Amino acid sequence: MPYSFKVEYAKIRAKEFVAECEKRGLNYHVSVGGLDSITLLLFLRSIGIDCPAVSVSGLEDKSIQEIHKQLGVIKLLPSVRYMNPNGTPHRWSKVEIIREFGFPIISKEVAEKIWTLANPTEKNAKFREGIIKQKYSSSRRVAQKWLEKFGGYANEEYGTNYKIAPFKVSEKCCYFLKEKPCDDWASKNNSAPFLGLMASEGGRREYMLKIYGCNYFGKIRARSCPFAIFSKQDLLQLALDLNVPIPAIYGTIERKEDGTLYTTKAQRTGCGMCGFGIHLEKRPHEFDLLKEKNPKLWHFWMYECCTDENGQKFGWARVLDYIGVPYLNEDKTQFDGVMQGRLFEENQ
Ligand code: SF4
Repeated sequence: MPYSFKVEYAKIRAKEFVAECEKRGLNYHVSVGGLDSITLLLFLRSIGIDCPAVSVSGLEDKSIQEIHKQLGVIKLLPSVRYMNPNGTPHRWSKVEIIREFGFPIISKEVAEKIWTLANPTEKNAKFREGIIKQKYSSSRRVAQKWLEKFGGYANEEYGTNYKIAPFKVSEKCCYFLKEKPCDDWASKNNSAPFLGLMASEGGRREYMLKIYGCNYFGKIRARSCPFAIFSKQDLLQLALDLNVPIPAIYGTIERKEDGTLYTTKAQRTGCGMCGFGIHLEKRPHEFDLLKEKNPKLWHFWMYECCTDENGQKFGWARVLDYIGVPYLNEDKTQFDGVMQGRLFEENQ
C-alpha cells in the first residue's frame, strides 16, 4: 500500500487503541528508544494523542538521550538487584547480568531457549522437549547449527549428542535492563504502551505482529504498534514530514539518486556490546566500533568481564570464537565496502 495509506492507517489504529484503553479504564504511554519510536512519539502528538513517554534512556547513545530530554521523555532506571544496607537501591548492570545469567547472543528467542535447556525444571519440561524435538514452527525453531552448539544440556534425556558452550547464555539482559523497568512503570501507572515496532524488521517482531496485529488487548498485556505495516522508507519519510529531531548518531536523512531514503550514519542503534544478531552483522560490527572508540573498554569486555570455574578471565572473545564471529583485524578485507552508514566512518 502507498505511504499515505499507511500513515492514515496508523492514525486510525492509534485512535482506536486510545478509545479502547479509555473504555477499559487504562492509561497509555509511548515506550521510546531510537529513531522509530521517537518518530512514533511525534506522530502521536501530531494527531492529538499527547501521552507520557518513557525510556531506559541511559542504555541509548548520548545523542539519543539528548533528544529524549528535549522531548520530555521520562527516564527510567534498570531494575533493582538488591537494597544496600543504607537503604539505597543497587541496580543491575550489564556486566552483572552477564556474569549471573549469561551472554545475550543470536536472538532473544534463541537465547531464552538455550537458557531454558540449561536450567531444567519440571515446569519447563514440555518446553524443553519442544526445543530439542524441533516441535515449533520454522520461524520459532532453534536452528540445527545452534542446537549442535548449545543443546547438550539435554543429551542424556533425549539421547542427543550436542555440545555445551563454555559460557552461559540468556536473554535476561534485556529483561532486567529494559523490559522490567518499563513493565513496572506501566503497571504502577495502569498504562499500556505504544511501541514503534515494524513487521518489516523481521524476526520475532514480524512474527508477533503478524500473529497479534497492530493493537492487542490480552488478559495481562495490551499494546499498540501503529507502525506495524511500515517499511523503513515509510518511517524515514514520516520523520522528514514531521520534522523529527534526528539524534546525531544517525547523521541526517538523505535521499539517494533512485529516491531511496537513508540515514548517513547509523542505520539502527541499540545498546553497545550486545550479541543479539551479531552473527548476521557485517563488519565493522558493534565490537569493532567499540574497539575504535575505546580500546580499553573493548579489552575488558572481550577478555576480562567474566571469570570461569577455573578462575580464568574471559569475555566476548570466547563467545564470538564459539559462534564463529570474527572480531580481530587480521582480515582487513572484511571491512572493505561495508563502511557506508556506519558509525565506524566517524572514527576513521
Ligand atoms: S539489547 Fe542487548 S545489551 Fe541491550 S538490554 Fe537487550 S540484551 Fe542487553
